[in-house]
Amino acid sequence: MPDYARYVEGARAAVAEACVVCRQVQSALDQVRSITKDDLSPVTVADFASQAIIGRALRGALGRGVILVAEETSHFLRGREHDAHLTATLEAVSPVWPDASADELLDAIDVGAGDTHHGGFWTLDPIDGTKGFLRGQQYAVALAYVEHAEPTVGVLGCPNLSRDFSRPFDERDERGSLYFAVRHEGLYELPADDVGAVAVRVQRLDHASGEAISVCMSVGRAHSSERDTERVLERVAAGGIPTGEPARLDSQCKYAVVGRGQADAYLRLPAKKGYVERIWDHAAGSLIATEGGCFVTDIHGRALDFSHGRGLQKNLGIVCAPPRVHGALIEAIDVLGIEAE
Ligand code: AMP
Ligand code: MG
Repeated sequence: MPDYARYVEGARAAVAEACVVCRQVQSALDQVRSITKDDLSPVTVADFASQAIIGRALRGALGRGVILVAEETSHFLRGREHDAHLTATLEAVSPVWPDASADELLDAIDVGAGDTHHGGFWTLDPIDGTKGFLRGQQYAVALAYVEHAEPTVGVLGCPNLSRDFSRPFDERDERGSLYFAVRHEGLYELPADDVGAVAVRVQRLDHASGEAISVCMSVGRAHSSERDTERVLERVAAGGIPTGEPARLDSQCKYAVVGRGQADAYLRLPAKKGYVERIWDHAAGSLIATEGGCFVTDIHGRALDFSHGRGLQKNLGIVCAPPRVHGALIEAIDVLGIEAE
């Protein structure tokens, strides 16, 4: 059995360092664009920088046996025509890795490059919510350890997410928040900019009968069906659980927001037929919300099954909510016969 205390500690430190690097790129978007002469490059650069930092930190903490299933490989940066991107990525990692050479950086991006058929593996989204990142709004660094079809360790860095529930989601917080969980051991929170801070246990309450609920969903309209969300919420309201307009935010920050009790549901109803959710978009977040006291399933109430490679092939969409709300949402989806659009 893995040494979970060591795993979660290594993963926390890795994600905290990646948050520093992402923040640095976000505060210098125009500077990065001027180096690479490419408008979207801040995401590319921050993606590679975040992955390199995490690969390096995990290998340092857990040794050479680490297997990391992530979206990026160093292939792009190794191309001569992308020298400017490589320079910008070296610059991006410098606050936490000042003496990195180009070769070391490229190797760190590929640390543990492996596949999901191994007994246990890490999965990473180095920057989840790229559109939020470019807008200066919410994004997340999401790292999880997966074994036997489910995540058992999850760390979610949310560099712009305030721990104060009264702050709007589209505002950038100075400190951000970081969540971590080991399966069955609860959810913990601390500021994203201070890995040494004392972590606080977070446990949300279930929904109380008659209370209105708040719901959150993607900003990206192609990622979750608005029409179906509206129909489901109308149905749930008719059954005695009223809701308002869904709050919109990018990335797995939605799982944190529901897991910590700021919102009462995260709905991701299929918007595009045939789309298969990526494991790195849900592994860390789903464990965070579960350990906070939520149920996380697909729209048919099935457990998320992480044993089918890089996609959640056996699942469709996501419903994340505390138990009573979850039950009402799944029932409404069933009655309405919602499937992929
Ligand atoms: P969010 O910020 O919650 O909207 O999710 C961002 C993630 O949505 C990205 O990391 C993509 O992997 C994923 N994505 C891309 N296309 C789709 C789609 N058609 N349906 C659902 N998710 C998608
Ligand atoms: Mg993503």
